[in-house]
Amino acid sequence: MAYDPNNIFAKILRGEIANKTVYEDEHALAFHDINPQTPTHVLVIPKGAYISFADFSEKASEAEIAGFFRALGKVAKDLGTEEGGYRILSNHGRDAHQEVAHFHMHLFAGKDLGRMIKPADK
Ligand code: 5GP
Repeated sequence: MAYDPNNIFAKILRGEIANKTVYEDEHALAFHDINPQTPTHVLVIPKGAYISFADFSEKASEAEIAGFFRALGKVAKDLGTEEGGYRILSNHGRDAHQEVAHFHMHLFAGKDLGRMIKPADK
């Protein structure tokens, strides 16, 4: 599957769709999710064109990977979520219901998030 340059997050990176930016540097952009699932729900995306975590972890440079994860940690810290706690999550592909095919990490915080995920039917 090829990267689609018209996905929503690519448009956000090009400034074609507005977003509520939390943080930006050369490797990453963080912005509030349009449909927040928790009081704090921020998306952190790399600036490079990667479809999902699988694509990013395989093809991104070490500088991009380090820059992205440092940005993710900084965003969590700067939002004041370290003390109360937070969850980071990334969906890859069909079974995880990935909607937007540009790699992103969700940062959830601001309430008791429960324990991990709901047990699925086996
Ligand atoms: P996924 O299911 O791909 O892991 O999550 C995609 C996320 O992107 C969803 O939580 C959804 O609410 C969010 N989202 C979709 N379109 C937009 C948009 O135009 N702006 C923002 N800020 N978030 C979006």
